[in-house]
Amino acid sequence: MEKIVDQIKKLKIEKNAVVLAHNYQIPEIQDLADFTGDSLELARKATEVKDAAMIVFCGVRFMAETAKILNQEKKVLLPAYDAGCPLADMAKVEDVLKLKEENPGVPVVSYVNTSAEVKAVSDVCCTSSNAPKIVKNIPVDTVIFLPDKNLGYFVQKQVPEKRLILWDGYCFVHRMFTLNDLKKGRERYPDAEIIVHPECDPEIQDNADFVLSTSGMLKRAKESQSKKFIIGTEEGLIYRLKKENPEKEFFSLGAARVCFNMKKTTLERLKECMEKETNEVILSDEIVKKAKHALESMIKYI
Ligand code: SF4
Repeated sequence: MEKIVDQIKKLKIEKNAVVLAHNYQIPEIQDLADFTGDSLELARKATEVKDAAMIVFCGVRFMAETAKILNQEKKVLLPAYDAGCPLADMAKVEDVLKLKEENPGVPVVSYVNTSAEVKAVSDVCCTSSNAPKIVKNIPVDTVIFLPDKNLGYFVQKQVPEKRLILWDGYCFVHRMFTLNDLKKGRERYPDAEIIVHPECDPEIQDNADFVLSTSGMLKRAKESQSKKFIIGTEEGLIYRLKKENPEKEFFSLGAARVCFNMKKTTLERLKECMEKETNEVILSDEIVKKAKHALESMIKYI
């Protein structure tokens, strides 16, 4: 392993490449990355690395696409070219267009977990942390919110004055957490804070202590006086939480829940992709232009 890690470090210098890794990536990839974060933090980071010749995105497809949309002139590589996101795949562009047609004039607010094509037909994008703010500030009574219905539930609770037309999508990883996991966690660690992601089912959100995005979880873990935390999100985040807070304890809510797409990026694939400069993310100018508009509109409403 030492050897391949050194080879990748060498390639980063030779190719003038920046490696970005999502919080759910395997520890070896997180340790090698120049930056780790959630999908939007990484896409933003990508706009700051002006001198880099290429961006290597260790995550799933929609994330690498978002980095490309915000950095059209840069070469963006996705080492795990087959790493999709089943949640993003639940919103097909033709179905979104149909729903728009059925609801003329109603704006589409899309979670960043969508394809570039869906972003291109959306009015504004959002993340799990800014979604309530965006829906609150958009100057209309009704919005189409897609693709995650659990995030939609979280938003609706905080913005009861608006009507949300929800898409029937979900993340299979976050839906695996059960009320029984929560009950057992409380019994076992009564002094721990239970923090879950808004992609979890409503009853999990309603019975947790906090419902936060991954960046919100990292912030809460740092600032809280609590020494123990039970975390309801993909297990990869626990590695980073432990690394950044070695004096605190972190436990997964129930069994560790794994997103297999996030684990498709291996050291071997990363090295090969960098060596051969394969798996480049290609998007048409038109898609980039329209999707960029939806991403940039997000800034307007936060
Ligand atoms: S954890 Fe869920 S939302 Fe995130 S990439 Fe995996 S399937 Fe998609």
